[in-house]
Amino acid sequence: MSLIVQKYGGSSVADAESIKRVAKRIVETRKAGNEVVVVVSAMGDTTDELMDLANEVVPMPSGRELDMLLTAGERISMALLAMAIKGLGVEARSYTGSQAGMLTDAQHGSARIVDVTPGRVRAALDSGAVAIVAGFQGFNRGTGDITTLGRGGSDTTAVALAAALDADVCEIYTDVDGVFTTDPRMVPAARKIDTITSEEMLELAAAGAKVLYIRAVEYARRHGVTLHVRSSFNNNEGTLVINPADGESNVEEPLIAGVAADLSQAKITVVGVPDIPGKAAQIFTTVARAGANIDMIVQNVSAAATGRTDISFTLPKTDGPGTIAALEAARADIAFETLQYDDQIGKLSLVGAGMRTNAGVSAQLFTALFEAGINIEMISTSEIRISVVTRADTIAAAVRVVHTAFGLDSEEKAVVHGGTGR
Ligand code: ADP
Ligand code: ASP
Ligand code: MG
Repeated sequence: MSLIVQKYGGSSVADAESIKRVAKRIVETRKAGNEVVVVVSAMGDTTDELMDLANEVVPMPSGRELDMLLTAGERISMALLAMAIKGLGVEARSYTGSQAGMLTDAQHGSARIVDVTPGRVRAALDSGAVAIVAGFQGFNRGTGDITTLGRGGSDTTAVALAAALDADVCEIYTDVDGVFTTDPRMVPAARKIDTITSEEMLELAAAGAKVLYIRAVEYARRHGVTLHVRSSFNNNEGTLVINPADGESNVEEPLIAGVAADLSQAKITVVGVPDIPGKAAQIFTTVARAGANIDMIVQNVSAAATGRTDISFTLPKTDGPGTIAALEAARADIAFETLQYDDQIGKLSLVGAGMRTNAGVSAQLFTALFEAGINIEMISTSEIRISVVTRADTIAAAVRVVHTAFGLDSEEKAVVHGGTGR
């Protein structure tokens, strides 16, 4: 008997019909003799809608209350799914994050899992029932409050439960057939990848490929959980995320795994910073205190005449207003001239383990963008990734030309089975 954790994303449980379809699939897995733990997201775009509602009530909702509100989404889908499974004659019980033992720190909106004690889930399985767990939510023992793990966090719930229960596999069911060479919603020529290394998947997820949440990939790698990303709309094999260090694969890796786009970032330029030691430290200490997660940093050569320089960095748009306010408050101290805020940027990233041993990749990337008339504003690299910032409205075209230039285009048109892409 295998223990299988199945996670269903919002688009797979968007309405009553979809919930019944997913319930049938779960019942089939149970009847095939497996123990089944299901992690479910909120229906369709519920989380976004609840977030919009909160923002209509007040511009900066309290973290504690926002978590109370958002976790209601998963509570609805878990109960409906359990009802549907029972309706098909199989015992099922739903559990909130705290009932399932998802213990986290107290950071509302981006809590980290500190322990998983799935005693009630285990007991449900032992009694022959299917356990349904609300994704994306946890509980902090210190404060006694409900927390959420960050947008897309149901993937992490599934992986954490799979690790704690020593599951055989963690299946991530979504609205596309697996992980593709780029977002199939943006580029129909995207190609499905059969196996991808966790290292590459981490880079793609970090670069904006939201098909898997980065923290779930990290957690899976650390705990040796096998991930299978697949569609809930058909029975096709999806994508296996493997860890070659475990000897699961020794095939030579392709040069490029995929291309990711990220439109969620903004750029702040601190103009006229005195070019003397300590200024970067002051700026980024201020930024860190504001809680912003910065990504790329570029410092211009200073103009000799003025002895001043400009420093630009990218950060999530959601961190923009708080960071601007913090820097403004420190303006006299840091002695910069002005701030510029630009939220019309996009980031394109090319990811591939083969890059490590291939020198020509950057040149090929920059040439493809040049030939398409796309201007590069910032560049950053890691061992297996190159990222460039361009204007937001050129990102879709940029991804298409880069995908083609690296020979990733598929003859077959990728199918997107559901979801709104929100
Ligand atoms: P779920 O609601 O199931 O969690 P998400 O919307 O979080 O689904 O993730 C699935 C979506 O991720 C797809 O519909 C697709 O538009 C997007 N996506 C972005 N990059 C990729 C990629 N490289 N491969 C597959 N899907 C991707
Ligand atoms: N419902 C949450 C979100 O939309 C968590 C998830 O779906 O993974 O972010
Ligand atoms: Mg998701």
